[in-house]
Amino acid sequence: MALTLCGRARRLVSATSVHKNGFLHRLQQTGSDRFQFGEAKAIRLLPRRTNMVQELGSRDNFLQHNREIETSYDFLGEMRQRFLRFKRQKYLPEIEKFQALAIAQSPKVMVIGCADSRVCPSYVLGFQPGEAFTIRNVANLITPIEYGPTETNSALEFAVTTLQVEYIIVMGHSNCGGIAALMSHPNHQEQKSSLVERWVMNGKAAKLRTQAASSHLSFDEQCRRCEKESIKDSVMNLITYPWVRDRVKRGELKIHGCYYNLSDCSLEKWRLSSDTINNGFCVSDREIWA
Ligand SMILES: [Zn+2]
Repeated sequence: MALTLCGRARRLVSATSVHKNGFLHRLQQTGSDRFQFGEAKAIRLLPRRTNMVQELGSRDNFLQHNREIETSYDFLGEMRQRFLRFKRQKYLPEIEKFQALAIAQSPKVMVIGCADSRVCPSYVLGFQPGEAFTIRNVANLITPIEYGPTETNSALEFAVTTLQVEYIIVMGHSNCGGIAALMSHPNHQEQKSSLVERWVMNGKAAKLRTQAASSHLSFDEQCRRCEKESIKDSVMNLITYPWVRDRVKRGELKIHGCYYNLSDCSLEKWRLSSDTINNGFCVSDREIWA
């Protein structure tokens, strides 16, 4: 039995021809867009460097695998197009700038943000390449120095002591899944927790403070409050690092916390300031950018 390419399979061929991965070329070498089926077998179309067809066992499997391949090719093809568009429209017109960046970076800002795909600091705050040294983790948490090394505080050390950034921005956001995990996790089950749960429990102080102050609120409302409280705690945790604290005291480093509200596109901001009452520092001067 012969299979004539149609529907998804034909679109697959069309997509691969766009991406120039050699597949269409190989099809043309066969002189036909028809493939031979065994009686109870199906085939799938495989990319370059592998066999062109492979028995899969059923026609449903064939369609499912082609769907997966097509999706994969569309995504990578789109990435390729975006990269080439970046090169054409951004890199080449500003080649001197990018050539300088190829040698060294000298960002003024470090951003510590959430890993959430919706909260891209460079996109939301308009940073250009070379402007913001960025690290993202689940729920944008910074642990105090006594908790030991993490990838976040290792990046912090590099940004402050080597790059000598002038600003640190801790950027949290509304509807944070990490904070929801923190708020919903039982306080005394840390040994049985997942990696995510154990990580977000670093924000436990913000959680307990939120629960104590707003037990009358709904879970979602408590999460919104905890999202902001944990930003403030992370800002305060930054000054447990002596090389941060010293630079803040000398006025060489300024620290801000930001809360990006995805629902109404507003940004709430606080700054770390000196406070003679509260251990030398506090989070104050709330602003709303809307
Ligand atoms: Zn988040």
